[in-house]
Formats: sequence, structure tokens, C-alpha cells
Amino acid sequence: MTMDYAKYLAGRANWIKGSALAEVMKKASELQKKGMKLVSLAAGDPDPDLIPRKVLGEIAKEILQNQPKSVMYTPANGIPELREEIAAFLKKHDNLEVSPENIVLSIGGTGALDLLGRVLIDPGDVIITENPSYINTLLAFEQLGAKIEGVSVDNDGMRVDLLEEKIKELKTKGQKIKFIYTIPTGQNPMGVTMSMDRRKALFELASKYDLLIIEDTAYNAMRYEGGDIVPLKALDNEGRVIVAGTFSKVLGTGFRVGWIIAEGDILKKVLMQKQPIDFCAPAISQYIALEYLRRGYFEKYHLNGALLGYKEKRDLMLKTLEENLPDAKFTKPIAGMFVMLFLPEEADGMAFASKLMEKERVVVVPGKPFYTDDSGKNAIRLNFSRPSKEDIPVGIEKLAKLYKEKFGE
Ligand SMILES: *Cc1c(COP(=O)(O)O)cnc(C)c1O
Repeated sequence: MTMDYAKYLAGRANWIKGSALAEVMKKASELQKKGMKLVSLAAGDPDPDLIPRKVLGEIAKEILQNQPKSVMYTPANGIPELREEIAAFLKKHDNLEVSPENIVLSIGGTGALDLLGRVLIDPGDVIITENPSYINTLLAFEQLGAKIEGVSVDNDGMRVDLLEEKIKELKTKGQKIKFIYTIPTGQNPMGVTMSMDRRKALFELASKYDLLIIEDTAYNAMRYEGGDIVPLKALDNEGRVIVAGTFSKVLGTGFRVGWIIAEGDILKKVLMQKQPIDFCAPAISQYIALEYLRRGYFEKYHLNGALLGYKEKRDLMLKTLEENLPDAKFTKPIAGMFVMLFLPEEADGMAFASKLMEKERVVVVPGKPFYTDDSGKNAIRLNFSRPSKEDIPVGIEKLAKLYKEKFGE
């Protein structure tokens, strides 16, 4: 006997869609289970071996033994000491002036974006994003009934010159635009970083058309160049930019500590919404993040440690791509963890990724699912943060071999 559960589902469950990437990952894990050794350029996380796990372990032990609050609920907005440390951290590294009162600690950046979506999105609202954009955020907003409209991206980030046309076009159609969601630094999946001129222009347009901006700063601590670039929030003299941040790319994705920067009614509703959903971000992780920042470990182990390792891996990936596919088009990230490679115009990235896995045992992520329209069929997302320095050239060389077989030199 099997129950027909579908009839019990809420109507809005129709808006819940799985990620098109699940298929790729499932197939990869099936092959691995069969004992096949795969080279993966498909990850979306930092390198656990570049994260100072030993040091974090020592902090964790100390905290669990000495801080009883670490095993309890924290206030809904998080422990005040960490909010103060984060405010100081943002001032120092992002040139951003925020009050600890405006920071709400969340369950990762994902929790931050979900909370913001819940507080801001009505079914049918239009959200403008980069095209392509981070697939999880697109799914989270769509689950709330949002319609996504994308604006193309080039090497300098969102094509803000196309944004105004898009806003006008949507307004003419009587659509309600709620906010613009952007990942200006180290964009996922493109790997590009928005120039300062574009940032200023984006802010001015949002102001002109009275739109909010949600700035996803997931990769702000993963900058290899472009030291003069500041977050959109630092340009915001109107309270128009809401930030979703995270320590996931620094401490590791397992800690689940992120934050929202907001004010006024948005802040108030986020806090009310948060309590019944998850109470608070994990207390143990909050205390670990606190000690990590207090002891200067961000500078010692991230800026002067892990980050150099990621930079080295990025350089290696770009060098191997340039040597093996000199005529191919790919992005050259100055921040983040990804390179987007473009196959020839008419090629099918999904089919290429499948073939590459079967034939060469290299896993990559097709770019298509990140796109908000039918473009990006030929895009392939490559991750350089997670694979080893041995695997990067091996993976790229094998990819290049298949590329040449299929599309010529
Ligand atoms: C990794 C990531 C996040 C946040 O992930 P969490 O682990 O939930 O903090 C948010 N946005 C983008 C673009 C990301 O790549």
C-alpha cells in the first residue's frame, strides 16, 4: 500500500523545484561507488585542507568546556559579542560602517537569503538577478512565488547598461519589481567581479526606480586582486542595500554562520520571522567564529594562509586553460572560486559534461541551470577552490582533450 501524498501537499509546494544539478551529482556519486576515481571540478565549497581545522578544533574544545552558553539557544539575532566582532571585521576589511544592532546572525548565507525572501516577496513579484545567478537563491525565491528576470553579465559584472531597459520594460508590462539580487564580488557561477563604476551605476538606478538591492557578499573574503573595490552597501546612503553575508567560504560551509544587515521594518520582521523558523544560528558555531575573529585568525589563517592557496589554484587553472585551450572563452576571476568556460556557441554543455564524466572521469557543472532564460547552453562552471593542485591540471587537460575531439582546435 502506498499513500497518495501529493493530494496533501500545499498549493505553494508546486513552486518547490529541485536543482537541475542534482542529476550530475547523483551520477558522479554512482560512478564513485563503483570504485571509479573521478577528478572533480564541480565543487561549490572551499578546501577543507586549507581551513585551519586543528586550530578550530582547539577553539571548539575550549568553548564546549568553558562556555555553557555554547550549547544553548542564543538570542534570535545572535550573540552580541559576535555581532560586534563582525561590525569591526566589516569596517576593517570591507570599508563598511555598520552598527552591531543592524546585524542578524543567520544559518549561513542561505538562511539569510531565505529569511529576506520570506519577508519581502509576494507571489508574482519580480526579482531582477544577474543572468546567470546562484542557483540556490533562484530556487529559494521561486519557492516563494517570485518571477525571476535576468540581466546579462560580462567581465565587469551585471550589464547595468541593460538594467534600465529591463526595469522600464517590466514596468510597462505592469509588473511589480521588488528588488535586485546581486553577487557583485566573485560571482557564482561566472567568477566575475562588478567594477566600481558599475556598482555606482547600479546603486543610482535602484535609487531612481526606488528598488531595494540584496547584495550577496559570500565571496568578499575571497578576493585575490581588486583591493579598491568596496561593497555596494558602502555606497548606500539611503538604506536601500540589504546584505546577506556568510563565513562559509572562510571557516567552511559546515559551520552555518551567516548574517543579514538590515534596518527598520525589514530588520524587525526578519527577527520575528526568524524565531519560529530556526530560533538562532548554531550557538557553538557562533562562539567559534567569535574566538576566530578575536584572536586575529582571519588575518593569520585566511588572508595570509588559505587565500594564498586558493590564488595559487586559480592561477594554475587559468594557466592550464590558456595552454590547452588558447582560443576558448573563459572568465578570469579576481575573486571567488569559479571560472566559467564557454564551449563553442552551438555546443550543448549538458551533453559535454555527461560525456566528460563517462569518458574522461572528470566532473564539471553545466552552466545552463544557473541561467534565467534559454541562454548559457554552452557554459561550463569550473571550480578551483576544492580540487588538489595535482587534480586541476589533470582535469583541465582531459577536458581540453574532449573539447578538441568534439570541436577541433
Ligand atoms: C556559498 C554561497 C552562499 C552561502 O552559503 P552558506 O553556506 O549558506 O553560507 C550564498 N551565496 C552564494 C552565491 C554562494 O556561493
